[in-house]
Amino acid sequence: MSKVLIIAEHLGGKLNSSTARCVTCAQAFKAESIDVLVLADAPEAVAAQAAKIAGVGKVLTVANPANAHALAQVLAPQIAEAAKGYSHVLGPSTTFGKDLMPCVAALLGVAQVSDISAVDGAHTFKRPIYAGNAIITVTTPGDQTVVGTVRTASWPAAGEGGNASVESLAVSVALPTHTRFVELQQGKSDRPDLQSASKVVSGGRALGSSDAFKIIYSLADKMGAGVGASRAAVDAGYVPNDMQVGQTGKIIAPELYVAIGISGAIQHLTGIKDAGTIVAINKDGDAPIFEIADIGLVGDLFTLVPELEAALG
Ligand code: FAD
Repeated sequence: MSKVLIIAEHLGGKLNSSTARCVTCAQAFKAESIDVLVLADAPEAVAAQAAKIAGVGKVLTVANPANAHALAQVLAPQIAEAAKGYSHVLGPSTTFGKDLMPCVAALLGVAQVSDISAVDGAHTFKRPIYAGNAIITVTTPGDQTVVGTVRTASWPAAGEGGNASVESLAVSVALPTHTRFVELQQGKSDRPDLQSASKVVSGGRALGSSDAFKIIYSLADKMGAGVGASRAAVDAGYVPNDMQVGQTGKIIAPELYVAIGISGAIQHLTGIKDAGTIVAINKDGDAPIFEIADIGLVGDLFTLVPELEAALG
């Protein structure tokens, strides 16, 4: 029987929806119990949010000033200690989880299962490889703790309605001194978060400059959408790299994805594989993006985007 411990992702006292997506993944292999672990300096508010996720049995909190910032090297030894008695330790396949979970796996002496997109059983998982071109089935030894990251775009968030108990957990492990928090640099934006937005508008190399990229922001604001970009747009310095969508950027699953001046390279497409409706605007009618787009507009983006925005009223 599987006892699952999910590591809560949170920032500024707010639980990230990636945690509820991990719960859905654990439910898919019919876990006997699903607990959530919140590590923070003051975990109460986040724990209260986690307790409301349907399907969560217990929320465990580890309060420690050292946990004020999510440093993988600081959190991992505590998680490895808290994991005793659990068959599975899961985290989201976000920047947070991709940084943290390999450290946990190393401390537990197991290989990590990355990017779980489907489950065939408690020890058999599916994950995309080759930029999403193939799906591989991975089986882990039945006698080892499973440490895995969950591909959040592949799982809907578990709903609310839970009423889990919250318990504080004492973990006594030596924390490393070689890694310390210096500073968090974070883009400030009132726009919906790229990874959880239901609508996303992305721009590519075709925009040509950060100044020209403003028409993407403007359209997105009219639609109430998050903003993303191709790697070419990021590499060219039009936008910051936390906006990159794709294999080496963010994997997203919005209901609506609008790709503007993006060719549709496989590494970009892997980031939007689970999107609902895909709309593409490109002046090249043979661009690969049109092979996967539900709606395509062939033409110059500098004409079409302002027209589209005007049509939205
Ligand atoms: P281009 O391929 O240059 O396409 C620009 C498009 O704009 C063209 O189709 C063109 O027809 C169109 N266009 C030009 N002018 C106009 C106009 N005025 N109006 C309308 N359309 C116009 N890429 C990612 O996006 N995300 C990743 O995470 C990523 N990871 C990678 C990882 C690896 C290991 C590698 C090797 C590559 C990765 N890439 C990634 C890069 C990827 O291969 C492509 O180079 C990149 O996605 C291209 O970006 P683009 O579509 O903006 O540019």
